[in-house]
Amino acid sequence: MREGKLFVISGPSGTGKGTICDRIIKENDDVALSISMTTRKPREGEIDGVNYYFVTDEEFERAIAEDGFLEYARVYEHSYGTPKKAVLARLSEGTDVILEIDTQGAMNIKRKYPEGVFIFIKPPSMHELRKRIEGRGKDDPDIIELRLGEAEKEMQLADEYDYCVVNDDLDEAVEKVKKIMADEHSA
Ligand code: 5GP
Repeated sequence: MREGKLFVISGPSGTGKGTICDRIIKENDDVALSISMTTRKPREGEIDGVNYYFVTDEEFERAIAEDGFLEYARVYEHSYGTPKKAVLARLSEGTDVILEIDTQGAMNIKRKYPEGVFIFIKPPSMHELRKRIEGRGKDDPDIIELRLGEAEKEMQLADEYDYCVVNDDLDEAVEKVKKIMADEHSA
């Protein structure tokens, strides 16, 4: 049986990478999205075990000690990690897995799994990114500034990825990522 492929998708907060990943998962039964563990609190509407596994600092530390992560990183003052067992199980059963993780996590995965496919989602411009982050009204002003500062840093790593997709139009961006995934299978 063929092994699934690992697709790592990053991009600054507000680029719409979460929406792109959700669309791909909904439209394709052979692709699974890895559910990360995080110590941040759930936002309104987020469900434990669906969006993330929301855990305490102690639970996160325990998972590190038990070698339970493929990678983990500190992002915006919270810890985020990719559970190892679930991802490897899906890959070995032939399912493609998408990791929607930050650039630090992606660079860690690239060292361990260079056969992964790395896709960076870019906003059309930094001005547009600010509008999107402010417009979704989920974050406090200081958090917005923190995220925009991080976004500048993350954009500098875009060249390390195999592909860059600009999310100017959501439907087009979804199609581009789907095509990359299909092409990688036929390569
Ligand atoms: P948010 O708090 O907005 O859900 O996510 C913040 C950032 O953490 C996003 O860039 C997201 O891609 C990243 N992230 C989510 N899960 C993981 C993970 O398991 N590992 C790493 N390294 N980053 C993650």
